[in-house]
Amino acid sequence: MSAQTAEMDDLTAVIGLEVHVQLETATKIFCGCSTDADDEEEPNTRTCPVCLGLPGALPVLNEGAVEAAVKIGKALGSDIPEETRFHRKNYYYPDLPKNFQITQYDAPICDGGELEFSVDGERRTVEIERAHLEEDPGSLTHAGGSIDTAEYTLVDYNRAGTPLMEIVTAPDFRSASEVRAFLAKLTEVLEYLGVFDVTRNGSLRVDANLSIVERAAVDDEGRIAESTLESANRTEVKNISSHKGAEKALAYEETRQKNAIKRGREVEQETRHWDESRGITVSMRSKEAEKDYRYFREADLPPLRVSGWKDEIEIPELPDARRERFREEYGLDAESAAKLTSTKQVADFYERIAGSFDPDTAATWVADNLLGELNYRDMEITDVEDRLGEFTRLVELVDDGEITVKNAEEIVLRRMLDDVLTPDEIVEEEGLGKTDADVVEAAVEEAIEENPGAVEDYHAGEDGALNFLVGQVMGKTQGSADPGTVNELLRERLES
Ligand SMILES: [Zn+2]
Repeated sequence: MSAQTAEMDDLTAVIGLEVHVQLETATKIFCGCSTDADDEEEPNTRTCPVCLGLPGALPVLNEGAVEAAVKIGKALGSDIPEETRFHRKNYYYPDLPKNFQITQYDAPICDGGELEFSVDGERRTVEIERAHLEEDPGSLTHAGGSIDTAEYTLVDYNRAGTPLMEIVTAPDFRSASEVRAFLAKLTEVLEYLGVFDVTRNGSLRVDANLSIVERAAVDDEGRIAESTLESANRTEVKNISSHKGAEKALAYEETRQKNAIKRGREVEQETRHWDESRGITVSMRSKEAEKDYRYFREADLPPLRVSGWKDEIEIPELPDARRERFREEYGLDAESAAKLTSTKQVADFYERIAGSFDPDTAATWVADNLLGELNYRDMEITDVEDRLGEFTRLVELVDDGEITVKNAEEIVLRRMLDDVLTPDEIVEEEGLGKTDADVVEAAVEEAIEENPGAVEDYHAGEDGALNFLVGQVMGKTQGSADPGTVNELLRERLES
């Protein structure tokens, strides 16, 4: 190892996050405009005097947004105070028509909390400092791409007023891969709560603070003294919009800062912009350390009291707990349990099938066959949720021995997805139903396999053994087989 890499190993990254997530509500946070963004929609059509910030328009708080925030707080183990308040964060920018953003300042709806996740097979817990509600600003499009060179900028207020939750973590992350794993877990929990849609464009935005400290400054519990953190210059990386983007941006930024330190240069305290297409962070040339937003109380919204109401808001079983229960209740291995709880919808689908069959059979059909075929077609479980009855029927056809596993997997399941037919329609069209002869032959095989003692007796020349086996086959075929044929088939099989 060279002297230089040894030096690099003595340093560690310290990362904290501000995660903005759009909440899945029907309407915006302070007005009745829809939040349902349509790819085809015209700019500035989903707006009203409130979200356009017209004089005299008054905000009315959306109960659904508060409910979603309380759910998030409960899932993160936050303290949800008796009373929470809204503030105006003042800044002048075209994406904000009121010239202030309604947000929460000194009394957020969620105080503290934590989230546990796995990274490289290890469990990690990151502390949540706070989570608060606010409104999303509008969106800007710089003609020609970049803010520096654009001739003009277009503004669209359709997004303005979409409810946002800002979740702030402690600087507990030590690597970019930890951040990615945390975001994946956070997304999973939010989706389980039914308050977030990760597939919606722009629904997740991350700002990250990153600084480099000496590894020796980290104590046994992974904590770093406040004074050490304060003396390390940090950068704020903005414009991160995915789990993968977060990992790439922060890995880049970590290397950039370590290289600067290695060369004896000071890391500048600044805001940097993640340029996804170039895979680098670039300085936004804003040198100020503290912004003064002149926060003051939002007088148009009374303090919000959730003390009595919050207890009535229930949250579903969360992913970790559900995974654990699947292992115990259905005897699944860790891998199957993880696959089957990857989303709440998959888990619900599995449990409804598992109710009718052996849990292992149900797990194979949902985790391996169905999810595999869906994935191959770029489909989700939600695309087939309303066809649960048809999938149950498919598993039933296999379970009852009416079609072979191979035909079920390779023909019926695939055509169910490609041609949207029912399993019975496909079985008929393809002529997959087992013939009577198939059924008798299978019963002969089974009878021989299940009764090694009788087989032994037959070979020892005992007269009753063959009759016993014939009786077994007749039982398996519910008496539908011809005893003479069974007798013949058994002899052939036993003598071969
Ligand atoms: Zn509106």
